[in-house]
Amino acid sequence: MPLLVVGSIALDSVHTPQAEHEDLLGGSAVYFSYAASFFTPVQLVGAVGEDWPAEHTELLRTRQIDTSGMQVVPGEATFRWRGRYEVDMNQRETLEVQLNVLDRFDPVLSESAQRCPFIFLANGAPRLQRRVLDQVRGSRLVVADTMDLWIRTTHDDLLELLKRIDGLVLNDSEAKLLTGEENLVRAGHQVRQMGPKFVVIKKGEHGAMFFSEYETYVLPAYPTEQVVDPTGAGDSFAGGMMGYLAEQERFDAESLKKAMAYGILAASFTVEDFSLNRLRQIDRNDLDLRLERYRQMLRFDGQ
Ligand code: AMP
Repeated sequence: MPLLVVGSIALDSVHTPQAEHEDLLGGSAVYFSYAASFFTPVQLVGAVGEDWPAEHTELLRTRQIDTSGMQVVPGEATFRWRGRYEVDMNQRETLEVQLNVLDRFDPVLSESAQRCPFIFLANGAPRLQRRVLDQVRGSRLVVADTMDLWIRTTHDDLLELLKRIDGLVLNDSEAKLLTGEENLVRAGHQVRQMGPKFVVIKKGEHGAMFFSEYETYVLPAYPTEQVVDPTGAGDSFAGGMMGYLAEQERFDAESLKKAMAYGILAASFTVEDFSLNRLRQIDRNDLDLRLERYRQMLRFDGQ
């Protein structure tokens, strides 16, 4: 079933203790789309500038990603993000953000995008995320991501958005910031009480927690020795999760748990190289092989 994502399309510059790379293909909607494309056709909506390399669009098209909703805006430059990781790869510092084309981006959805049943509002200003929701018709599942910047600067807009979505995905530090609650279990349920039916708290190398009215659980990250660049892990997580749900055309408790597992596995591949380089080397079979190892890892009591 088609899946719509609206979010940033970026040129990222990433510094790690081992290497530095400039103008890498990135952005929340790009990582999301690529990870989701292992499961389902994706419609990507976003904006880039004149400086956007056409080969990046070609790469996305080689997957089942419909890029017709990507606007190339004349006279503008693409959104740029620069970040640095410490030796402890869980610590990231944003060095620079150039909004450029995103400053005035006003998403206008095509007829087919408006009718997508599964929708992901990737990291972006809540006002813009709500603009998307104003246009969709007949959606079955709407999930959003957010970040500390929006919690701090557009708090009321974000609270309005939370009342209109089914699920929210956010980081542990962001859940604490949004609720003022240090205990993550309490924070997860408090976010849920702000509107969404379920909340996923991402905890980096410690996996992800799930909260609904009936369930609270945690799934560990897939243990990988090779952590080269964690950029996009959260967006790939969301892509794997939503991609699987759209493929299954359902989001009952069992499907959501397996979707969380696929999200964790998609993220585990993303961190093994810069940009989309590792995801480009794999196919659905690699995700399924890793799922089997993950399942064995979690099995105990002979079950
Ligand atoms: P993640 O590592 O999953 O949290 O996401 C990293 C991606 O988010 C990078 O590719 C960035 O281009 C993108 N990003 C960073 N800051 C922003 C922002 N303020 N708005 C939208 N996307 C952003």
